[in-house]
Amino acid sequence: MKKIYLDNNATMPVKPEVLEALLPFYREQFGNPSSLHWAGRMVSGAVEKAREQVAALINCSPAEIVFLSCGSEGDNFAIKGTADALKDKGNHIITTSVEHPAVMETCEFLERNGYDVTYLKVDEDGMLNLADLEAAITDKTILISVMWANNETGNIYPIEEIGKIAKKHQVRFHTDAVQAAGKIPVDVQKANVDLAVISGHKLGAPKGVGAIYIRRGTRLTRLMHGGHQERNRRAGTHNVAGIVGMGVACELALQNLEENYTYVRKLRDKLESGIKELVPEIKLNGHPNPDLRLPNTLNISFAYIEGEALLLHFDLKGIAASSGSACTSGSLEPSHVMGAMCVEVILAHSSTRFSLGTDNTAEDIDFVLQELPPIVQRLREMSPLYNRDELTPLSCDECRIIRRI
Ligand SMILES: *Cc1c(COP(=O)(O)O)cnc(C)c1O
Repeated sequence: MKKIYLDNNATMPVKPEVLEALLPFYREQFGNPSSLHWAGRMVSGAVEKAREQVAALINCSPAEIVFLSCGSEGDNFAIKGTADALKDKGNHIITTSVEHPAVMETCEFLERNGYDVTYLKVDEDGMLNLADLEAAITDKTILISVMWANNETGNIYPIEEIGKIAKKHQVRFHTDAVQAAGKIPVDVQKANVDLAVISGHKLGAPKGVGAIYIRRGTRLTRLMHGGHQERNRRAGTHNVAGIVGMGVACELALQNLEENYTYVRKLRDKLESGIKELVPEIKLNGHPNPDLRLPNTLNISFAYIEGEALLLHFDLKGIAASSGSACTSGSLEPSHVMGAMCVEVILAHSSTRFSLGTDNTAEDIDFVLQELPPIVQRLREMSPLYNRDELTPLSCDECRIIRRI
């Protein structure tokens, strides 16, 4: 069976050049880069080269990059590390209601430990009101954390403008750039960012490696205590192969940024217009202007059906996509991102994310457009809601699925 992978925002295949580059570090170049002997020296240069490659992708100095185990670690480090380092200054953090769980749950953890968190609302397109952000800043605010691009909708946030607001009020600014890095230009200096997090497996490197940009001079309490690796910023023996792979993946992403953007955007636009043409009663989740979304991401709700059911039928055809609702603790709760956008319950349950990659082809999209309409039709015919209930729009106040606004 033909296999079509449209879940690149969950993880991406490792690029062949990346795999080639990292394999020697599982063989003869096995040393610990912190060792002073020949085996250590053989690999420490490779770690430093990777640091330069990662720094180049986001336009910072290599000394401002710290390697980590993943993106989630980076978000935890940025937020908890700031909360602790600046606790004498204040206890207020501003973030949004559409962050990745790595940010959301870290903020919720801090709330249980004496910090105040403001979760900024988004509008129905999933966008922020920057006046709300500015109004939320108090003299106790120690951190603004806003993601560069959203993993579910692909929405790109105005990071440069937020950076200006942060600078004006002298508040530290963290951004989860995991989905943005490698897909769109990310320039941490231009955007006045203090902390930015990226993850290897979201840009063509293996799982288990990530990086954080820490602007020179930023006080940040360490998360991992132990050895003195990474200039004392993060303990733990380096994942040398992963780091080398991440360096090469970042270099490739930078070299091919425009070309990849154009290629994948064309396929995504084809899928988007195809679905709009072929399937009635759908809703695009995210900003209607495709320029304000990542080039590879499309999130669509198919009224009356369960996203999970659609995914199972896709899977039978070899198509891998993902659903906005996750079956958490037995109850099928729609994603908090759909909740924050006030997507009606009935639509939120059917939200489906297609996230493309450079391995996809126009034939892949044709195949999806051929298989999708009959699956949706069949599922609708089985749905108890179809043709019986009108779609009743819920106002924000009564929207059951809002987790917090
Ligand atoms: C995947 C993802 C993360 C977490 O990265 P891991 O390396 O998987 O821990 C954080 N933020 C966003 C936006 C993501 O998409």
